[in-house]
Amino acid sequence: MRTSGLTLQINLPRIVANVRAIRQRCGVEVWAVVKANAYGLGIERVSRAIASEVDGFCVFRLDEAVAVNLGGQTGKPIIALGPPEPDRLNEYLAQRVRPAVSNSADAESLRAAGPILCVDTGMQRFAASPDQIDAILQAGNITEAFTHAATVEHVERFRQLTDGRGLKRHAAATALLDEPQARLDTVRPGLAMYEGAVRVVAPLVDVRESHGPVGYTGFTARRHGVILAGYSHGLRPGPCLVNGITTHLPEVGMQTAYVDLTNVAAQTGDEVVLLGDTLAPSTIAQSWRCSPQEVLINLVRHLSYD
Ligand SMILES: *Cc1c(COP(=O)(O)O)cnc(C)c1O
Repeated sequence: MRTSGLTLQINLPRIVANVRAIRQRCGVEVWAVVKANAYGLGIERVSRAIASEVDGFCVFRLDEAVAVNLGGQTGKPIIALGPPEPDRLNEYLAQRVRPAVSNSADAESLRAAGPILCVDTGMQRFAASPDQIDAILQAGNITEAFTHAATVEHVERFRQLTDGRGLKRHAAATALLDEPQARLDTVRPGLAMYEGAVRVVAPLVDVRESHGPVGYTGFTARRHGVILAGYSHGLRPGPCLVNGITTHLPEVGMQTAYVDLTNVAAQTGDEVVLLGDTLAPSTIAQSWRCSPQEVLINLVRHLSYD
């Protein structure tokens, strides 16, 4: 569907293949992180596509699972990674969502829902401090623990803090999948599942020779093009592809952007790839100075699915 000149293409078989590859590479359980509407790609279609390939799903809030009946639709168990809602025990049970807990009171209130201990190893937000671990485990009759790890040092700390208690344990998200010592019993990939599966494109609506400084910013180019997408669609100045050649968007406005065509043979109607093919979120992230997850969610959240 075309709104705003931008088209989003999601390759669901590629997401399935990514999940299989992660499972093979890591050799442990895979719990797919489909929070934030599967990073903007659509939690229903993504979770349906990969349900038979994963051991479970992770959302951030209980309501993300409730809204699409995630447990019922996929038949898989779910973890809500964010702060728990201790007064909603029946909904956790009905949706087969297990809450993450980080204090004894919540662990006890949600005991029947099979709470999971979240241990602080450096993030310093909704996670238990090390001295409370045993009290919380006992209060919630807890058999599983995780940490939100950014580094292998976080994982090592988590391992030491939780050793010897017979717990199922997990730590690694996308950034740590290639670190064998970070895999523990389960990995929780988000971004890695969506790698290479998303294309965001817009056609050139104008192509011309440039004469002197162009646009608000007065950038220079020998030739330039225009697309009908701008910062209102999450776009920022940075790299793009035109006819297989890497070039860039020197200036982005509210609903339009300029494409530098100095070194690219292109004409009106040709496709500008804003994400996808050889242009990965991590490449754009360097230019935008943000995380690749932020790139992905920015570029897909205003779009309809093609
Ligand atoms: C979002 C999240 C993940 C997945 O993160 P990616 O880096 O996208 O793989 C895993 N664990 C927790 C606790 C998260 O909040």
